[in-house]
Parts: sequence; structure tokens; C-alpha cells
Amino acid sequence: MVFEVIVDISNSQVDKVFDYKGEDFFQIGQRVLVPFGGRQIEGYIVGCKETSDLPEEKLKSIVSPLDNYTVILPEMLQMAVFLKIKYNLRLVDVLRLCLPSQMRGGKVKQKFENAAKLNLDDYSYEDIIRQISPRAKKQLELAEFLLQNSETPTAELNKKFGTAVKLLADRDLIKILSKQTERRPYKELNAPNNIHNLTTEQQNALNEILTDMTKTYLLFGVTGSGKTEIYLNIISKVVAEGKKAIMLVPEISLTPNMLKLFRSRFGDKVALLHSGLSAGERFDEWERLRLNKANIAIGARSAIFAPLDNLGVIIIDEEHDGSYQSDSNPRYDTLEVAKFRANFNGCGLVMGSATPSLVSFYHAQKGEYKLLTLPNRINNRPMPEVEIVDMGLEIRAGNKGMFSSRLLEELNEVLKKGNQAMLFVNRRGFSSFVMCSKCGYVAKCTDCDVSLTYHSEENELRCHYCGKRYRMFDLCPNCKSQYIRQGKIGTQQVVAYLKKLFPDVGVLRMDYDTTQTKQSHAKILSAFSRREAQILVGTQMIAKGHDFPFVTLVGILDGDQSLYYSDYMANERTFQLITQVAGRSGRDKQPGKVILQTYSKNHYCLQLAAKQDYLSFYKKEINLRETTKFPPYATVVRILYSGLKAEEVVARLNDHYIKLTELQNEYPSDFIYLQRMRCAVKRIENKYRYQTILRLSNEKHDEIIQKIYKITDESDKNVSVFVQINPQNMN
Ligand code: ADP
Ligand code: ZN
Ligand code: ZN
Repeated sequence: MVFEVIVDISNSQVDKVFDYKGEDFFQIGQRVLVPFGGRQIEGYIVGCKETSDLPEEKLKSIVSPLDNYTVILPEMLQMAVFLKIKYNLRLVDVLRLCLPSQMRGGKVKQKFENAAKLNLDDYSYEDIIRQISPRAKKQLELAEFLLQNSETPTAELNKKFGTAVKLLADRDLIKILSKQTERRPYKELNAPNNIHNLTTEQQNALNEILTDMTKTYLLFGVTGSGKTEIYLNIISKVVAEGKKAIMLVPEISLTPNMLKLFRSRFGDKVALLHSGLSAGERFDEWERLRLNKANIAIGARSAIFAPLDNLGVIIIDEEHDGSYQSDSNPRYDTLEVAKFRANFNGCGLVMGSATPSLVSFYHAQKGEYKLLTLPNRINNRPMPEVEIVDMGLEIRAGNKGMFSSRLLEELNEVLKKGNQAMLFVNRRGFSSFVMCSKCGYVAKCTDCDVSLTYHSEENELRCHYCGKRYRMFDLCPNCKSQYIRQGKIGTQQVVAYLKKLFPDVGVLRMDYDTTQTKQSHAKILSAFSRREAQILVGTQMIAKGHDFPFVTLVGILDGDQSLYYSDYMANERTFQLITQVAGRSGRDKQPGKVILQTYSKNHYCLQLAAKQDYLSFYKKEINLRETTKFPPYATVVRILYSGLKAEEVVARLNDHYIKLTELQNEYPSDFIYLQRMRCAVKRIENKYRYQTILRLSNEKHDEIIQKIYKITDESDKNVSVFVQINPQNMN
């Protein structure tokens, strides 16, 4: 037999199939060791055939399979080809997503440890006891322990019973055996099973979904409307039919909570997959899924590649979240992978959100997704009341601090009542916009209607869409005040300030810096839910999903921060963020309050977010997208160039740009926009960054994108080039 093998080297030159001879019983999807360029390397069998076009003497043989099973399911092979074409990826990079990374190179394996059990094959329990001296208390205790507990790791027994273990083993009264142990993440996370009787709204949505489990659903339910309970019910049904499920959440920080809920319902059948686990845990959880010991995979983005066949449903919670798009190699959109897998398995895809992405909601309006709505919170709890505080007024009243007087009043109230508060600091992205603190004026591009970015080296403002430059001003062009601001508030400063204000109050902080160690997310969140602290300060990590019954106040310190990113998604992101953060307040019996601090009180995005009026926001924003031709009415393509030498990067950019203008001439009516410029973040890790941004009509975008890939594809070791489709982040 001849096998087609993809070698495990991520390099465009070798990203093609190589033919090898092999035994008939080798299987497609197996990992193998093959001779390649004078050494032996790992590879994946992706096909087989009777004969090769290579002459017999050139055809080498597979050395050996690396595992005795197929690592890549047939479904995943097809998916890899689909992603390769759609996103111009290397096949090997997609295949690598399908297995725990440490499996490659054999860096992780099953773990075995010694365990002991009573030798009940040769003796009765009474015999064993009779052979132990009545004075050997420890040995008697050990025997009794093993009678109660069957097999137990010797390490554990040695701690409890010391030398008794060895003494009984030497006399063959107990047997020591080598046993595979499962490294299970978050072992301690368990909760009592707390099944709710569904509300009528929940039941109706569930029934709709269960009547046709082959469609795509958009579950649009306000925060606290009980979407999770619906997910649990769908999965119960799927599992009862012998099928499997994938449940995605947008961030690792949300997995512990989901895991706890799922374990309470489905016990051991749940496995967790995400990059925050240790290599061993990840491997063992992956194995449990592969071997059908678990049939439900929970995780962040990468869990969409879980090794499950026979899928009954894929659920994407908080579907609007930007993290579902991977913006480093391999770049892909989780939703596209989910659609592929759902289609392949003929199973349902359920996306849930309180603030669906405009694009998803648009598809739902068009009838491509079935829209299900949960307009009310559970038990008709009121939505939190949002109060907008004008920080410009605060400044004029002499308050230069980061907390408005209203926020301080409410904080004092919460502390007095023994409740909890969450303070949200919006610190995302790198660019800083410029605004007048007095009148709220924001410098915008006259051509593009996006806010300008301040470039400190040149002391000028630039539009990151069209590249146009503007002089920086000292006085506000609108009201002539000198309160021009481009500063940002950080979480650390907020915590320090709180300590000064309330020295006796426990404060926790959750942001990128405090969550670098394993399980740190879970530790912070569980400390807060045990009410070890009354205030939690955090970035967008605290915005989503969490359900803390004692939180009655949410403070949003800088509600406009994200409004002025030079990005067409700025309004959408801001609306989502504020609605999500606000949704953390008043989720239980006590009503919640939200204080939204801003310098742009009258911006429709903030006004509508305060009312949590998604539909009005959608209507306004989708109209804007239609007139300005942005997604879903067009496709944004960004070609990102980076390299250590600016001249080389620019040369590449210009060279491609010429070819792109030729392409534009070929498709004059499909190119809405084509411009090259520096990136908002000019340098990352010493690499200079430039970009070309295109907008294409939706009619021919697939065809044109394939041609763009051809233009950008030739490899160059000094300049890396990436093509992104509708990127979530334009830094
Ligand atoms: P969402 O995901 O829509 O924001 P959750 O699923 O977190 O909302 O539900 C909010 C709260 O309501 C949770 O504490 C959940 O346990 C509770 N809950 C959900 N469904 C019911 C129900 N049918 N009856 C009572 N409580 C419920
Ligand atoms: Zn512009
Ligand atoms: Zn002004």
C-alpha cells in the first residue's frame, strides 16, 4: 500500500503530501514516523492508494505508527482541508489543532502509578486478618482500609500507614499493581445537582430547538434569562440519544463555573479542554473524549477541535465574543469550524447571547438562523437600573478622582449592607483616542467617521482607516477648553485608590497580570463568590457570564474607552461590553444598580446600552453598516505585514499593493475600498507592522480572496504576511 503523509513541519515548502510505502493495516488519520531529509520525523497519514507516481526506488517506507489508533478523525481531515482553503492555512497547522500539542514529539503520555489491593484471589479477608499479629495495629488498619476502598495508590497509603504497606506486600497479603491514573483538572469542583423547572419562556425555546436538531439557532436572551439551563437540557437530550456535545465559552476564566454546573448534571461524562491545563491533564481529558469515557467537551475556542464523532449539538455561549476568532496562526473563525462540524454531523448549532453580534443577528433576521428570544430575567427579576454619570460635570465640579460622587455613594451603601460590588475598567487595545473632558468632543477623521489615534512621537493624530494625518491641538476645537485627555485608568490604580478609601474592605483584582498562573482565574472567582472580598476590580475578564448573587452594584469607570477605537466595530463592542457588565448586577433577590461613568453621555451607543435596548441599537447600527458598506454588507480583508526591517516590510507591502490594484481593475465594482498604511500598533516585538485594508462586495468575495491568497502567498523569510477576513481586532 502507498500512503500519503503530511510531515509535521510547519513550513509552506513541505506542506504537501509525500508518498510512503506502508503495511496494509495502517490507517488514514494515524500518526507515523517517516524518513524525511536524512532524519526521522513525525507525520500524519491523510490518504492511501495502490500505486505512487514516484519510481519504486525513490519510494521510502513508513518506519512505524506512533499510536495504535487514528488520532485524526475522518471528519477532522475534511475539516482541515476546508480550513486550509478558506483561510489559506497549512494543513499541518490545522492537524496540530486536533491533538494535544505535547503529544507531538512524545512529550506527554499516559501516567501510571502503583496501587495496592488486598490479595483476595489467594486468601479470604479473615485469612488475611488471621495472619497479621493483633499488635500490628497499622497493618490491621491498612487491611480494613483496603477492604473498604479497594484499589488505592501506594503513595497515599504510605502516607497513612507507613511501613505497613511494604510489610503486607512482602508477605503477599496485599498486591501492588501498576495502574493508569487520570490527571483530572479541577478535581475539587463539584456542586449539588440543582435542576430547575423550566420557565415557560425557557420551555418554549427548548421545544423549538428539540423539534429540529439540524438547524442553527440564535438564542437571544437577556442577561440572567437562564440560557445555561437551556443548554443543559439540550445536552441531556442529546446524550440520552447516545450522541455527543461540545459546549464553548469565550474565555478560560468562565470554564470552571461551567464545568461545575455540567459535572453536577453529567458527572464524569464531562471533559475540559483548554490551553490553561497542564499537558498531562489536557492529554488525559482528550483521551477520555476519544475513548468515549466522556461525551461532552467544555472549553474555550480550541475545544471546537475536540475528538468527538457522532456530535448531537454544538453550543457557543456568548457567541458575539471576539475571542472566538483566532488572530494568530492558525487564524480561523470558530463559528466557521462549528458550522462545518455541525453540517458534517447533521447536528444542531446553538449560539447564545444577550448581545448577539450584529452579523449573527442580521443572519437571524434573514431567516438563515432561527431566532429564539428570552426577553425576561428568571422570576421576572428586574433588569438592573443603569445611571449614566457625566464625568465632564464631575471635573467641572472639582472632582478630579476616578470615582464620581454617585459611584462613591453607592459603594458606601453596598459596603454598609454587606453586599458586593464589581468595578470594571475597560483596558483593551493599545490605541489612545483624544477627547475634551469638558464638552466630550472627540477628534475624528473627516473622511471616515472613526476616531483618530494619537501618535506621541510625532505629536500628531492619524486615521487608522485611511492614513490621513492631523495636527494635535492644545485647545479643544469645539469649546476652547484645555482639558484635553488621552489617559487611561488601570486596574492597579483603582485597587490602590480603594485601599486608601476603604482600608478594611477586601478587594480582589482580576486582569491579565493576576491570572498568569494556573487556576488563578478560579481562585479569584471562588474567593469572591465565598465573599472573602466585597469588591472585585477587573478588566473585560469580569464582564461576562459570572453569576454572583450578592453583587448589587456594578461600576463602569470609563464607559467610553472602547467607543473611540479606530475600528468599525467600536460601537458594537462598547454596547456589548456595557450590557454584559451591567448584567452582572442584581442577578438574585436584591435589585441591582449600575453606575456608568462617561465623558460622552449623549452617545446613542451608551444611551441604548443603559436601557439595555438591543433592538434599537441593532437597527441604528445595521443601517450605518449598510450605508458605509461594512460587514455584513461587505467583507473586510486585512493583509498584515511584519518584519524586522521597515524597508523590507514596505517593499513587500508596495509590491503586493500594485498587484492588488491590478486585481481591483479586474473587479472594479467589487472593490469598495483599498488602502495601505501603517498599523495602529507600529511595532510588536521589534517587528514593524504595516497593513493593506480592503473591503469587498459579498457577491464575489470568496473568489477574490482566493486570488489575494495567490498574491500574498510567495514566501519570504524576512517579512511575514497574514490575511485576515473580517478581523475582530485591527491593532
Ligand atoms: P444567562 O446565562 O441567561 O445570563 P443563567 O443561565 O446564568 O442566565 O441563569 C441566571 C440564574 O437563574 C442562575 O442562577 C440560574 O441558576 C437561575 N435559573 C435558571 N433557570 C431557572 C429556572 N427555571 N428557575 C429558577 N432559577 C433558574
Ligand atoms: Zn480617515
Ligand atoms: Zn471641548
